[in-house]
Amino acid sequence: MADEAKRASEILRALRESFALPKWALSNEAMDPFKALVLTVISQNTSDRNAERAFESLSKKFAITPDSLSKADAADVEEALKVAGLQRVKAKTLKLTSLAILERFNGSLDFIYSLPLEEARKALMRLPGVGPKTADVVLLFCAKKQTFPVDTHVNRVSKRLGLAPRDVSYEGVRKSLQESFEPRDYLSAHLLLISLGRAYCKARRPSCSSCLVKSLCPSAGDDIKGR
Ligand code: SF4
Repeated sequence: MADEAKRASEILRALRESFALPKWALSNEAMDPFKALVLTVISQNTSDRNAERAFESLSKKFAITPDSLSKADAADVEEALKVAGLQRVKAKTLKLTSLAILERFNGSLDFIYSLPLEEARKALMRLPGVGPKTADVVLLFCAKKQTFPVDTHVNRVSKRLGLAPRDVSYEGVRKSLQESFEPRDYLSAHLLLISLGRAYCKARRPSCSSCLVKSLCPSAGDDIKGR
């Protein structure tokens, strides 16, 4: 375990030297939890660029608040989300979630700051369309709670790097990564593993020969296409 934590820390150091973190991650500015939730729902099964474009388009039409989105016309929300795909499902999720936040939490997600992590996580995951990844993103990004969101890049890259077993699902990867990294590094590690996944450790053709952590990776050079 000590060796694994040391390797994780070396991986993190190498990633920090090569990739920049976004300004918001370096500042103490807190992200609005409802906006983070909306962006995470929109980003499902699409690129970051298209998710951002859809979020901008939605922001131009509506205030990004539970009250405004719960009252918004579904067809208008769908139109705004078109560029990110799955607009019908995502619009329905956003409207239902907004309504639930109004009914259960008086229109505010501020409970994430005061409730203990697991209680806040369970409350978020009871909202329509909110799974563990969305809940963990909101809790880590907005309330700096000690949880490690696992998206598709983090899942793939951490398994190839041997930071999580290959045969575990979301909770298993989350637990392994939380044990590998220091809690103060969860946000950086999450963002930097995503950067590694996009730049080198791609799903279909990982660029192992030029990868900046190849000397720390047990899968380097393996025939790992698609794994
Ligand atoms: S060496 Fe290859 S498998 Fe390992 S992290 Fe880099 S790209 Fe991914």
